[in-house]
Amino acid sequence: LRACQLLPKVELHAHLNGCVRPQTIKEILEERFRAGEALAVTEQQLKEVTVTASDRSLGKCFRLFDIIHAITTTHAAISRIACEVVRDFAADRTVYLELRTTPKSRPEYGMTKESYIEAVLQGVEQALEQLRQQRSTQPPPQPQQQQQEQESMEKQEAAMPSAQKGALATASPAEAASVPGTSAAAAAAAAASSYTSACCCPSAASIEEGLNGSGGEGGPGGCLPDVSEGQLGGGAGILVKLLLSIDRREDSRSAMETVELATRYRHRGVVGIDLSGNPSVGSWEVWQPPLAAARAAGLSITLHAGEVVAPRETAAMLAFRPDRLGHCCCLDSELGEQLRASAIPLELCLTSNLLTESVPSYPEHHFAELHAAGHPVVLCTDDSGVFGTTLSREYAIAAAAFNLPVAALHQLVRKSVEYTFASEEEKQRLRDVVERALAACI
Ligand code: 5GP
Repeated sequence: LRACQLLPKVELHAHLNGCVRPQTIKEILEERFRAGEALAVTEQQLKEVTVTASDRSLGKCFRLFDIIHAITTTHAAISRIACEVVRDFAADRTVYLELRTTPKSRPEYGMTKESYIEAVLQGVEQALEQLRQQRSTQPPPQPQQQQQEQESMEKQEAAMPSAQKGALATASPAEAASVPGTSAAAAAAAAASSYTSACCCPSAASIEEGLNGSGGEGGPGGCLPDVSEGQLGGGAGILVKLLLSIDRREDSRSAMETVELATRYRHRGVVGIDLSGNPSVGSWEVWQPPLAAARAAGLSITLHAGEVVAPRETAAMLAFRPDRLGHCCCLDSELGEQLRASAIPLELCLTSNLLTESVPSYPEHHFAELHAAGHPVVLCTDDSGVFGTTLSREYAIAAAAFNLPVAALHQLVRKSVEYTFASEEEKQRLRDVVERALAACI
């Protein structure tokens, strides 16, 4: 895991309200109770959101999102979450983040889709400013310092009780996934930890921390050396772009409003449109015209596709030729063939797909086949808060489950830059930053 934490990374599939820190949900709720507000959230529902070990099947996840949305109804809460999410990704050495969120019109809370977007942007800008200040007082460490940091982590690991080390280093992902009674989360833990035992410079301590939720700034990434030397985000070390999501519960008119707002907010970093939400709801014909309008306006498009078995819809989505696709877990052989022929880059979220039971185990995840076939794929977190993961952890799981050497991980990082919706000039800067950081990792 530590080796993956040191990689410069690109996140292309992260939902704002799915990345919220569980602690933040608790605090927002407490604040609102103190202010005398009566929110329609029970103790049990709160527990379900904040305890990541509980059931995360797909249907359950969409109920969880509704609970999170019932709590995060103020502009201040949205800004806070956006700020923390950017900081969490930056702390995990993400150099480019494409954050997606569904603009919400909630007149009962004085919120319009536009004011929601403003609140998100305010949070993002606040995070970037804080990161710039932090960087100006902490010069980026040199490769030699990184080496010292690695050695110190190895010493810490050597000093750990042997029982603890053994527990983290033995299970293979296949074993972990097949042990009766082993939860999917535990399988994920075992997979990531076995990678650290097989690859360079592991640290059992950092694995444990990394597996305990989304990390946060006190987490393992908090002390990682900076990699971008001020080139990105105006000196923040991370470039952040926004995708506006259309929820599958929305009608054409509401979807079109989101597309119009995305067009108007391009100068503030909105680069595209995402279609997401419960895959059992709605029909493709409703969103196809707004999505075509988005494309005509020059916005990039990514679609959640094939999360459940829906061959007609998945075929229509492939025929639409979006710029990227997310998930595609439930494709029959014909659709799989069409996907490969399309060469559309695919955002893959290993922990999410396992916990939502969209795939039976990591080794059986379609990453293996697509990556081996040279199909463009990018590893992503999806909902780091809800699934208790980090992008580093997703790389560690991939390395363990698919036996990827470090060079393959570096190649995944390099390729991910090409699938961003950033401008050509921004991509060039990212390539430079990534190459320099990868050279320091070797
Ligand atoms: P938000 O858009 O409120 O910032 O993030 C939460 C929303 O993202 C959810 O309500 C849902 O619409 C979408 N979302 C998050 N994770 C997933 C996922 O795994 N699949 C799909 N289809 N949608 C998701």
